[in-house]
Amino acid sequence: MSYQSSPTKDFADDVEWCDEHWPELEFRSPEDEAWYAVEVSEICDALLIRFNGFTCDYDEFYPSDEFKNSDEIQEFEERFRACSLQMQDTECPTVTEGTKVCATFPSVTGDVKFYDAIVVTVERTKHERDEEGNEVCGCNFKVFWKQGPWVNQVTSAKVGDICLRAEDNRMNPKVVSFFKEARRKLLGEACLQGEETEWQKILKKVSSAIENNLSLSSLPENHG
Ligand SMILES: [Zn+2]
Repeated sequence: MSYQSSPTKDFADDVEWCDEHWPELEFRSPEDEAWYAVEVSEICDALLIRFNGFTCDYDEFYPSDEFKNSDEIQEFEERFRACSLQMQDTECPTVTEGTKVCATFPSVTGDVKFYDAIVVTVERTKHERDEEGNEVCGCNFKVFWKQGPWVNQVTSAKVGDICLRAEDNRMNPKVVSFFKEARRKLLGEACLQGEETEWQKILKKVSSAIENNLSLSSLPENHG
């Protein structure tokens, strides 16, 4: 069944069929400020966030009408982006000084949590081959942490600890439509009132300009 042939469906209902064309999402959880691969769905103007690899006990539910101001909306919006991808051994040459990554550092608790970091140096070693002939990167990447428990510190990472930031940064339409709805709910009426006020101001200016013009033309000429 093709939804493409149904032009009457609106965009929000129509995104289902083209899901695969959108980059996977990652979400920075307010809980621990780490990045997680997630799936989102919109339910009754709320956004349901499912964490990949976690049970539904970890699901988070955000109603679109619970933002107090537009800063809160923007702050929450910045928690979504296209999912970073596990760095492959063969991608090593593309990772250099200044490459932005999303990486993990072994923690004492054994948690694997990903935070943003930037590569500061790469100690390169000659890549070996495994039994199957696959290239194996053993290089040492020094990363400077921009987030997380090691923020502002430099630690070492291996290829397996590093995810590369997505190149395709298009935002999933479900997320876009959720934020549109949140903004509409927060600002909808304020905007409308604002526009009326602005329009009223213009009307006042127009009428006072007309009055001035009339009184000017009725005044005797000062010069000449
Ligand atoms: Zn390497």
